[in-house]
This record gives sequence, C-alpha cells and structure tokens, in this order.
Amino acid sequence: MAPPQGSRAPQEFGGPLGVALMTLLLPATMVHLVLVAGSEPARLLAPPPALPGLQELWSPGALLLCLSWLGLQAAFYLLPARKVAEGLELKDKRRLRYPINGFQALVLTALLVGSGVLLGLPLGALAEMLLPLASAATLIAVIFSVLLYLKALAAPVEDLAPVGSSGNPIYDFFMGRELNPRIGSFDFKYFCELRPGLIGWALVNLALLVKEAQLRGSPSLAMCLVNAFQLLYIGDALWCEEMVLSTMDITHDGFGFMLAFGDLAWVPFTYSLQAQFLLHHPQPLELPRALIICLTKAVGYYIFRASNSQKSIFRKNPSDPRVADLETIPTATGKKLLVAGWWGLVRHPNYLGDLIMSLSWSLPCGVSHLVPYFYILYMTVLLVHREARDERNCRQKYGKAWHQYCQRVPYRIVPFIY
Ligand code: NDP
Repeated sequence: MAPPQGSRAPQEFGGPLGVALMTLLLPATMVHLVLVAGSEPARLLAPPPALPGLQELWSPGALLLCLSWLGLQAAFYLLPARKVAEGLELKDKRRLRYPINGFQALVLTALLVGSGVLLGLPLGALAEMLLPLASAATLIAVIFSVLLYLKALAAPVEDLAPVGSSGNPIYDFFMGRELNPRIGSFDFKYFCELRPGLIGWALVNLALLVKEAQLRGSPSLAMCLVNAFQLLYIGDALWCEEMVLSTMDITHDGFGFMLAFGDLAWVPFTYSLQAQFLLHHPQPLELPRALIICLTKAVGYYIFRASNSQKSIFRKNPSDPRVADLETIPTATGKKLLVAGWWGLVRHPNYLGDLIMSLSWSLPCGVSHLVPYFYILYMTVLLVHREARDERNCRQKYGKAWHQYCQRVPYRIVPFIY
C-alpha cells in the first residue's frame, strides 16, 4: 500500500525489524519477570528454574476476569464526569473532548472491591493467577491492536498519527496508525492510558498484600510501603487526569500494540514486580531505613508533581499568575518555552522526579536481589529514550528556539550529570 501523504519513514525503535523484535520480546520479558519474582533464587538474569506449561500460562477463567475488568472500567468511563476537558488542538484545528472521571473510577473500584472483600471475595487468590492473567491481557492487547490497525486503514489522513502511518504494516501495527481512535465519543487510547492497567496495577498490588497477610499473619512494612507509594502514584495520575492530554502518548503517538500492550499488560504485571518479589522473599525493614525511604519518595514526588503542574498550567494559560513571571523563549509556532522554574533546571525535571520515586519503590525490597530494581533500570532506559524522542520532535517543531533553549538549559534529566 502506498504510504499516505505526509507519512514519515519508519525510524523509531529501529524501524520494522526493531518493533517486530519488541513485539515478541516485551511479552516474553513480562512472563520471565513474573516467573523470576516468584522463584526461589529470584535471579533477574538467569532463566527461571522451570519453564511454565500451557496450564500455568493459560486459563479461560483468567481471560474472563480480564474481559470483565475491561467491561467494568469501560462502564465507569461512561458514567457522568465531573468535567469534560478539551484536548490540544489537532492538525485540522479540532479539539476532542474527554471525560475527566478517572479518579471517580478508582474510588468506585475501591468501593466495589472493598465490599467484595467484606462479603468474602478471595482477593488473595489473584496473586496465584498472575501468569494466566498476564497472558490473557497480552492476548487481548494483540487482538485489540489488530482491530485498531484495521480500523485505521479506513481512517482519513488527518486522523493518522505522525509516526504510525508509514505504510509498513508491522511498523504501523506497533506504533499505532490512528492518533485518536474512537467509536462515538469513546476514546480507546485515552481509556486505556490510565484506567484498566493503572487501576489494575493497584489491584494486583493489593491482592499481593492480602496474600502476604494470609500467609504470615500480617502484611510486612516493606509491602505496605510499596503499596502506599505506588497507590499514591496511581491516584495522582488519575486525580490529575487532565494533564495526560498534553503528554506525548496522547498528542504524538498513535494507538497500536506499543501502547495497548504497555497499558493493559506490561503496567499491571511488571510494575507490580516489587510486591510480587516481597510476597515470595520477605524483607526486614527497620523504622530508620523506612523513614529515609519515605523521604526519598517525598522528594521525588514533589519534583514530579511540581514540574508537571508548572508545565501544564503554563500550556493551558501562560498568563496564569503562578507562571506569568517565569522567563520564556518565544518560538515561531507562537507557543513559548519556559526557561525558568523547574524547566530552567533541566529539560525534563518531571523525569528526574519519576526516577527518584522509582528508586524509593525498590529500596523497601533490600539490596540482596536485582529483581526489584528492574523497574528503575527499565524506567531509566525508557525515560532516556523518551527524552531523545521528545528532543527530536521539539527540534523539528521549534527549530532555532529549541537550540536556544538547549544552550540555556544544557542538562537533560539530572543537573550537572546528564
Ligand atoms: P512531558 O510531559 O515531559 O512533555 C514533553 C513536552 O513538553 C514537549 O514535547 C513540549 O511539548 C513540552 N515542553 C518541553 N519543554 C518545555 C518547556 N521548557 N516549556 C514548555 N513546554 C515544554 O512528556 P511525557 O509525556 O514523556 O511525560 C509526562 C509524565 O509522564 C512525566 O512525568 C513522565 O515521567 C511520566 N511518564 C511515566 C511513565 C511510566 O510508565 N511510569 C511513562 C512515560 C512517562 P509542547 O511544546 O508541544 O507543549
């Protein structure tokens, strides 16, 4: 098929070959991590003691659970929202509308699960089904991405994503061909971005905590900290849901296998790795160390939230008194770039906060194993690569003004280091 007008050559993630490898390697890595976290030696780089059989990997019950979960979250998405927000302006000057009710979905889920547990719902049993649940979520992501790709073949050119409309089917399947696939007002990418996977991650963590309490009489301090820290991250993302509308995932990337698998399978089953590890490898945690870890989390969270909010406020209304005094650089597009405040410290202060928080999630797991540190290693690779992608896009968008910004703010993520 001829590439549509305005398409770019496949280049992200090593082009078609790179994304084909990632399509196979990412699910395999997820399964490896779940197996390793539950195994006795828990060695990140060694093969798991025994390869899983089909029975361990697959169960129709797990598929049914995943589908019911998606249905429940979709129903919550369709409930009346406290606010309907407009996204950034699209190429054709339209602005899509999005319900801001993600936090409401989290609260309703908590009420539902809480009532279920009081009525005897065996939440801890989820902890024993992680592998079949992860496989089912992967299967759903694959089928969903195929359907999204087919739907996108009929989409008008102005609805295509800048990077996923190369004309190469493998590449476009992975990157996502359509920017904002919707049926009516139901936006698939926005729905998946923060709800089933992110709330699912909190549920998996909670199930692991309940299971630990069943096995050992009470949950450990380390497990409680991991649960609390990650719940704060999830709650924050949903409370500030509107801010997702100006992120790269929504404004730049199409909706394909990368985001569908990431949102629906990778997030709940690999981001819960610390809690998975702690269930099988209990770690002592004394109060002084716990306090230092809490302080690390607080510092990371402060940087993350303050910098993300500052940019979001500025992008929404540059004359807002909270940002109006900050120095800016004008660009040819009419938009300005902040060159003071958090965005004058490094070019991605929000990534710095995210990385510090990642460290605080691993530290409760002690230092005897590498597995709980997978998340911070992964986030470092993800954010360094994401920074490079964003840098390339901004250079294209802002030209000389971006060059000027880079000269004024030479460090990318960590002041004086990187
Ligand atoms: P950002 O929110 O950092 O957005 C980057 C965009 O911000 C740029 O494209 C540009 O867009 C704008 N921008 C850059 N510099 C400036 C400046 N100086 N002044 C004003 N605007 C500027 O990108 P992400 O979507 O990557 O990240 C959002 C958050 O999500 C981060 O906190 C990140 O850590 C987190 N995240 C978490 C992940 C996870 O799995 N846990 C995965 C990915 C991200 P424009 O000019 O067009 O507005």
